[in-house]
Amino acid sequence: MAKCFKDQPGLYLHIPFCRSKCRYCHFYSENASALEELFPAFLESLKGEIAYFKEFGFNFETLYVGGGTPNSLSPSQLASVLALIHENLNLSRVVEKTIELNPEPLERHFIEVLNEFGFNRISLGVQSFVNSDLQTLGRTYNAQDISNTVDLLRSNGFHNINFDLIFAFKGQTIENFAFSLKKASEMNPTHISTYSMTFEEPALEDLESKDENLTIKMYKIRDKILRAHGYIRYEISSFSRPNFECIHNLKYWLRHYYIGLGPSASGFFLLEGREVRYTNPSSIRFHKEIPKTFEPLSEEEKLIEEIFLKIRTRWGWKADKNFLETVVQKLKGLVTVKNNSLILTSKGVFVADKIAIKIIELYEDYKKRTEIQRLDF
Ligand code: SF4
Repeated sequence: MAKCFKDQPGLYLHIPFCRSKCRYCHFYSENASALEELFPAFLESLKGEIAYFKEFGFNFETLYVGGGTPNSLSPSQLASVLALIHENLNLSRVVEKTIELNPEPLERHFIEVLNEFGFNRISLGVQSFVNSDLQTLGRTYNAQDISNTVDLLRSNGFHNINFDLIFAFKGQTIENFAFSLKKASEMNPTHISTYSMTFEEPALEDLESKDENLTIKMYKIRDKILRAHGYIRYEISSFSRPNFECIHNLKYWLRHYYIGLGPSASGFFLLEGREVRYTNPSSIRFHKEIPKTFEPLSEEEKLIEEIFLKIRTRWGWKADKNFLETVVQKLKGLVTVKNNSLILTSKGVFVADKIAIKIIELYEDYKKRTEIQRLDF
């Protein structure tokens, strides 16, 4: 696994603009046609938020610029946002800088900005290589645009690239999904993320496929094709070449700390010895809620998060030996044990959240029983 440290937080920046709204999307974004009017307010809000977090003196390990669509900003707008962050926050020990891009023509000056600020990872919102599927999703580019963008990025020195793919949406056939997976693998990105619209993305405009059997077949074919091309699944939705896991995303699943900047972004960190979470309002003028309201986590909430998040990964959730045996017996075929940790089997992956709930129930019960035994003794 790529190394990453809990106490060195990740930094996420949400760019809240898109050129058009995709039919399935639930992320907060404004139409980029209003950029001229809204960008100054966004920058002002960001200034307020950055000034607030500057006082904490965080030493960040990763930077992830997402959205929205970061390449809906002009090169100079992107540069002004990045300059603000780099001048005020400590990014001197950052090992991974990712930016999300849509596969659309990129201006030369935009690429220069990416180089100037040291981005070493690109996450491309490909979604599909089938043009009719792209139209169904409301995406505004085609398969040729994807290839052109990848060629352009590679010719400018960007080789650490992720492709996002979506599957299990209404009307998508298993053949089309397999085609996208093969095409993606043949283009050899270092990382492929796959999101199921049935189980993971709450679909808008009823794009959700109701056919669970078909979705399960799609999961299976996904694992088969990507494994055959040498990709390792290290999280339910994420595949990578060895040592190319996304360090920033690992922070979410391993419960490491991170600070989210921008509208709708959220954060998780240690404040005066207590773990707290926050979420910014979904509004361009989000800074109106600074100083922020932080929610401290109880021990029970921490445990629930640990289980829900860590069993998503191939390293699983560590627990004591006796408890692990109980779970494996109760959830036969769905979980297994490796290195004193509970790991989902390929069958368990389809029902990860249900399994997490069951593990929590079993753990509560196990704790009560061991407490009683201790009292009896
Ligand atoms: S480009 Fe991405 S963030 Fe923007 S609407 Fe489409 S899916 Fe949502």
